[in-house]
Amino acid sequence: MNDLKLTDSSTVDGAVFSASAFKDHEQVVFCNDRETGLKAIIGIHDTTLGPALGGTRMWNYNHESEAIRDVLRLSRGMTFKASISGLNLGGGKAVIIGDSRKDKTDALMQKFGEYVNSLSGRYITAEDVGINTHDMEMVKSKTDHVTGIPVEMGGSGDPSPVTAYGVFMGMKAAAEYKFGSSDLGGKRVMVQGIGHVGETLVKHLTEAGATVLINDIHRDRMEEVANQYGAQIHEGDVFAAEYDIYAPCALGATLNPESIQKLSAQVIAGAANNQLADEWRDGETLKQKGILYAPDFLINAGGLINVYSEIVKYDRAEALRRTENIYHTTLQIFRTAELENITPHQAALKIAQERIEQAKAQRN
Ligand code: NAD
Repeated sequence: MNDLKLTDSSTVDGAVFSASAFKDHEQVVFCNDRETGLKAIIGIHDTTLGPALGGTRMWNYNHESEAIRDVLRLSRGMTFKASISGLNLGGGKAVIIGDSRKDKTDALMQKFGEYVNSLSGRYITAEDVGINTHDMEMVKSKTDHVTGIPVEMGGSGDPSPVTAYGVFMGMKAAAEYKFGSSDLGGKRVMVQGIGHVGETLVKHLTEAGATVLINDIHRDRMEEVANQYGAQIHEGDVFAAEYDIYAPCALGATLNPESIQKLSAQVIAGAANNQLADEWRDGETLKQKGILYAPDFLINAGGLINVYSEIVKYDRAEALRRTENIYHTTLQIFRTAELENITPHQAALKIAQERIEQAKAQRN
């Protein structure tokens, strides 16, 4: 890993990171522990509506500036996700720099828990890419400011199945709006990334009678999921294939000028955070091309709804009911976007921002 070099703007994975990107963040915490090798960043974007809750991602970033960019974008997205879902939570996120398959140890996760604890509840953590319920158990041994802990320990467990259910609801709403029916039977759907969320989404889709294409960087995962659900493995360029619906369930920024130009899908509905490399430019291009984009932070909120319920008093049925409502909210957002001639992403952002502004106004 190179030393941290922050220039005014640098290009990572085709998306521009600007040093001014954290001008809206309340707090960014760098965590460094030589003994365990922990290198983490916690981003707290906005706590107007409540404590900043967001998962921890472990990823082998090529450069620290990539990790900073990721945590800033992800924590901002969490603010709007909580707001549009009607939760009394702010937006935060953490990233741990390293390969979760090789570098993760219980001691490292416990040390991370100590850093979370030092923030006295301003930030509450949970799982994200590369992190599982066992890791949350390790964090829990050092702090109470953690959710998504195992059911046996009184928690709500892995939030991913609930996230997948919400994405499925959002996708059905998008199909209703675009194709005139929420029935996904016979539709060709590409699920990119078949991890915790992607796999459960594949299950829902195959049960609904869709033809599911799957793509992942791990061949063993693809074989496992293909065998279990009868999905078709797609290797090579995801955007060159023909399908009706694209479900990004890996990492963010997969929607950019190059990929959108190739995309044959008429609907995009997936779990990944920050799917639009540039939320204004790429959202607008999709609108112009008539591709219906279901805002990521709206339809992937099921997991957050589930872990929020763990804080107030866990009730899975209630969490699932609220998650099911993503169907109606998504339809509402599409209607608003069309009426106001803006993109669905802009429409969702506007509603989320309005709720935060109202809360600020009431406080003053
Ligand atoms: P995960 O780590 O379990 O799965 C991610 C999968 O994507 C892995 O199988 C990985 O091999 C694959 N992948 C990575 N890069 C890829 C690439 N370039 N092409 C194809 N596949 C690739 O993560 P998850 O918990 O399933 O989360 C998936 C996405 O959904 C993430 O962006 C996450 O931030 C977002 N999300 C997750 C939740 C949740 O509850 N887990 C909630 C909201 C949003």
